[in-house]
Amino acid sequence: LQAEIISIGTELLLGEIVDTNSAWIAQRLTTIGLNLYHVATVGDNLQRITAVMRSALQRSDVVITTGGLGPTVDDVTREAVAAATDRDLVFDEELLQEIACFFARRNYQMTDNNRKQATIPAGALIIHNPVGTAPSFAVEHHGHLIISLPGVPHEMRHLMESEVLPLLQQRFGLKGIIRSRILHTCGIGESTIDSRIDDLMHLSNPTVGTAAHPGQTDVRVAARGDTEEEVLALIEPVEREIRTRLGEFIFGVDRDTIGDVVTGLLAAKSLRLALVDGVTCGELVQRLANGTQAEQAFAGALVLSSREAFARVLHLPEADLEQYGLSSREVAEAAAQTACRLHGADLGLAVLGPRDSGVEVPAAAPTHFSLATADGVLHTRSAQGRSGPSGRGWLIHLALDLVRRYLLGLPIG
Ligand code: ATP
Repeated sequence: LQAEIISIGTELLLGEIVDTNSAWIAQRLTTIGLNLYHVATVGDNLQRITAVMRSALQRSDVVITTGGLGPTVDDVTREAVAAATDRDLVFDEELLQEIACFFARRNYQMTDNNRKQATIPAGALIIHNPVGTAPSFAVEHHGHLIISLPGVPHEMRHLMESEVLPLLQQRFGLKGIIRSRILHTCGIGESTIDSRIDDLMHLSNPTVGTAAHPGQTDVRVAARGDTEEEVLALIEPVEREIRTRLGEFIFGVDRDTIGDVVTGLLAAKSLRLALVDGVTCGELVQRLANGTQAEQAFAGALVLSSREAFARVLHLPEADLEQYGLSSREVAEAAAQTACRLHGADLGLAVLGPRDSGVEVPAAAPTHFSLATADGVLHTRSAQGRSGPSGRGWLIHLALDLVRRYLLGLPIG
């Protein structure tokens, strides 16, 4: 069984918004055992959308479209489905009542063009949308199924989960399921991981693959089977083997973030951490503050940029700042200890180095990570500073991994 996704919207082609809908739908389709072979993006043009739909319907059993169901003239998904499946558009009084109720409940004024949203291709199965005004629908066409969903991500997701996935399972008698376990690592490169688990990456069920993100490499173990028990039993021994080979580099699984893991460890030990961020413009602070147990674990943070600010807020000796500069071990250690004291925390973490220029270029000077603890100050450094969004991702993982390693008694540096 083949599935295909069509993302509709000129703003997607212009790069003004990123097509997150396709990625999300792709993941959900694998959970019910549907293979996704094509993803297309097309602008708000009736002829081109119709042409893409026609070829999709020829080769794929299921075609899912998102976007273009709104009330405005450039929303032409309904017209395109009708054209691609050789049928007329019909007006549905019941749908109009539903849309009117949606507006009335929110005290919004319904405009004339909302009537357009009450038209659907003749014979379509209506997928009622309780979270928005764009009704969705499914059309059978010579044994192939095309389903049109709104572009607004939360509406699309709601309808996929509650209506579309069950519909697909029933329509195609899909019993098999796919489950995956994602192991998150940091402090180890993708190529080193490859060389350690190369043999496992040739397995067919479960399959094992890696994906690199800034500062983090994920190892995904995905299995296919008839029942939850069966797939979990397939995943378990392979996961155990990967854990043996990658050990301490694995910091979390599935939805865990490094911030969750560190705040969880701190909370479990009833410890509180204070931060000094001199590099990531506050992003490091945000990651930690978003951790699931941040309230107990996070004592406070200072985001500082200039030498003057370090001198004024942390009362660091001007002479030290003058002599060592901000990208130095000496100042990072002093900042970690001072932040810890200022916030009455148990641990103080300071990240100091070249300021993020926002562009993805390696900075000349290294970045220093210092962690003030009851047992003294620990220190690591990255050989080069890093910059830009992916550079920040690296630094944040290096910084929080230092805390994780200290809390778990793992080797540092
Ligand atoms: P509505 O009637 O609620 O406007 P719609 O089906 O007409 O829904 P669009 O107008 O195409 O949807 O898109 C609405 C918004 O949804 C877009 O401005 C964009 O923010 C978001 N969106 C649309 N398509 C995608 C996509 N593929 N990925 C992520 N976001 C999207």
